[in-house]
Amino acid sequence: MKSLLEVKRVTRSFYGVKILNGVDLTVIDGTITGLIGPNGAGKSTLFNAVSGLFPPDGGQVLLDGTDITGVSPRERVERGLVRTFQLARGFPKLTVFQHLMLYGQRHPGEGLLASLTGNRTARRHEDELAQEALAVAARLRLSHVLDNPVTALSGGQKKLLEIGRALMAKPRLILLDEPMAGVNPTLTGEIAEHLRALNAEGVTICLIEHDMKLIGHLCDPVIVMAEGRRLTQGRFEEVVADERVQEAYLGGRH
Ligand code: ADP
Ligand code: MG
Repeated sequence: MKSLLEVKRVTRSFYGVKILNGVDLTVIDGTITGLIGPNGAGKSTLFNAVSGLFPPDGGQVLLDGTDITGVSPRERVERGLVRTFQLARGFPKLTVFQHLMLYGQRHPGEGLLASLTGNRTARRHEDELAQEALAVAARLRLSHVLDNPVTALSGGQKKLLEIGRALMAKPRLILLDEPMAGVNPTLTGEIAEHLRALNAEGVTICLIEHDMKLIGHLCDPVIVMAEGRRLTQGRFEEVVADERVQEAYLGGRH
């Protein structure tokens, strides 16, 4: 039971308000770990701290035993730590294919350089990325919309593209922020299957999701956050039976 991600006493304030109050938690290598808690508990903020988007004010983040607290978001991605967003972000004018290529691009400017100078190494890298983008799209059943602008995608397809974007980085750990929110039940099941398959291939997953049935099916263990702290952790059945967890949900703005 090796820990892939360790969060130690992480704090973060916005405008003088403490949003993360000293979070301690561990994600074990190879798991699909659930992260639940009432609205405003600080789950997304924790993902921001771990991915480096809004670094913590205090505490430490370790990836596979290495302290990455001061490491840039980009470098974290290169080390295999990738997150997705609650609301898909992107560049509206780019196509699905371009979008995937962009996130696979580990050496900025290379694509441009290749087209200007015809540099062969750069062009080979570009070809490899294109192959990966096609494979990722096929896997997520997005091949038929590869040339569509991102704005033309359905809500569900946007969610799939978010996952695709993460896959282009060849992640070891994916932090998924509500990947099924607002998606129809069929697609929800499909996304769940994608997550299971990725996990079976060795990708560790940390999943924020409001749908408790899904959390129960997919995740072990489940970590519960409330008021900027880890409240408890355990098997799904254990944590939902915990009175403190029920109180946290009743007391929250849920
Ligand atoms: P959760 O994802 O558990 O619902 P969040 O982490 O999104 O909770 O939010 C926790 C609290 O932190 C909320 O009150 C939110 O308004 C606040 N917060 C999060 N990010 C910021 C930010 N960038 N600026 C100001 N307040 C923020
Ligand atoms: Mg959130």
